[in-house]
Amino acid sequence: MTTDPWLTDERQALRELVADFTTREVVPHLAERERVGEVPRQLHQETAEVGLLGAGFPEEVGGSGGDPIDGFVVAEQILLSGGSGGVVAALLTHGIAVPQRGERQRRPHRPLRAAHARRGGIGALAITEPGGDSDVAGITTRARRDGDDYVVDGAELSITSGARADSVTTAVRTGGPGHGGISLLVVEKGRPGFAVGRKLDEMGWLCSDTAELSYVDVRVPVGNLVGAEGSWGRTAPTYATVGFGQIAQQFQAERLSPAVQAYATAQRCVDLTMQWIRDRETFGRPLASRQVVEHRMAEMIGVARTSTRTVAARWVAEGGQLMETAMAKNTAVAACEHVVHECVQLGGMGYMREHEVERHYRDARILGIGGGTTEIMNEIIVELLGL
Ligand SMILES: Cc1cc2nc3c(=O)[nH]c(=O)nc-3n(C[C@H](O)[C@H](O)[C@H](O)COP(=O)(O)OP(=O)(O)OC[C@H]3O[C@@H](n4cnc5c(N)ncnc54)[C@H](O)[C@@H]3O)c2cc1C
Repeated sequence: MTTDPWLTDERQALRELVADFTTREVVPHLAERERVGEVPRQLHQETAEVGLLGAGFPEEVGGSGGDPIDGFVVAEQILLSGGSGGVVAALLTHGIAVPQRGERQRRPHRPLRAAHARRGGIGALAITEPGGDSDVAGITTRARRDGDDYVVDGAELSITSGARADSVTTAVRTGGPGHGGISLLVVEKGRPGFAVGRKLDEMGWLCSDTAELSYVDVRVPVGNLVGAEGSWGRTAPTYATVGFGQIAQQFQAERLSPAVQAYATAQRCVDLTMQWIRDRETFGRPLASRQVVEHRMAEMIGVARTSTRTVAARWVAEGGQLMETAMAKNTAVAACEHVVHECVQLGGMGYMREHEVERHYRDARILGIGGGTTEIMNEIIVELLGL
């Protein structure tokens, strides 16, 4: 019996379920969904019905049980089975919309989690502001207490699933300046004053909608607060200046998820490309015989996968390890960026829209930006190493 939490019998069965679902329900419609610019709500509902949106969510809140590794396995296998980063982003944003760890944060949002996991509701997480930057301590969207409500004013930029979301977990300033005054508040669609500004046209993730959001005197019940007021800043880690990480330390999944997508994307591109270079002859010899580059690709994918899986397993078992998740993300993103580049180069047809590798090449570009940029991950690493 394996002791690797990623390879248990239950998770192998989960992989088979995801592979079957992706092959039947995702791959045949992917080109059309990219053309339309979003995945239909029906796909969320179907994914929820087979239990995949609830993977990693406790059963008592409507999930299918397990822990966050199950959610990562779903994302990994969607990619390995011919899905895309855009599908993962569009379908699984609920995974970052409500914190995955900590009973204190979980309790007020049981109905919300159940809605996402069981009925295919759509959630989003809004931290990035139009005038803001990677320094989350500067958040200006304000939530002012008024009786049993907060009144929210501000704007958010580049929010994944923002146009379709039933609820948006929004970073708001409830206190004074700096990271200590920041809270998270769940704002539901339909509240007066809460609106989608516009959908943004993107380079990749073409079936995932990304939107600007605006909040004008939006009344939200105090009960929609995630955790205690100001807790997202106060529980910030030992470092105090590295921006996005202050919130992301509560959302390690926000970093581990792109890391998983990165090594899975790289693996998928290599799988697609290897067959091509074995069959292809140039100057009378198989192309494969001329290439040593696949050794480098295999090594990079192996390192990325091992570090991400190890850090994720530790995060689940012991809680957040800020520096390790930052390193895992950067390692996996670097591997992915190298591999997708090489696969387009080797694959001949990899530049063509009809070829799956071309989609992964475009989709991969976001992985070093979303969830905290490569540079900000490096800032975290440098600061925590005391360099
Ligand atoms: C497709 C897409 C989906 C997204 N989805 C979401 C979402 O769902 N929710 C959400 O809240 N946000 C989302 N974002 C926003 C994303 O998280 C931010 O774009 C990202 O964190 C970078 O922030 P910024 O754009 O403000 O860059 P800036 O902070 O303006 O940085 C610009 C550049 O400068 C670098 N830089 C900044 N500070 C430093 C420093 N101290 N040292 C060295 N370099 C530095 C950055 O790394 C970056 O390269 C999304 C973005 C995209 C493109």
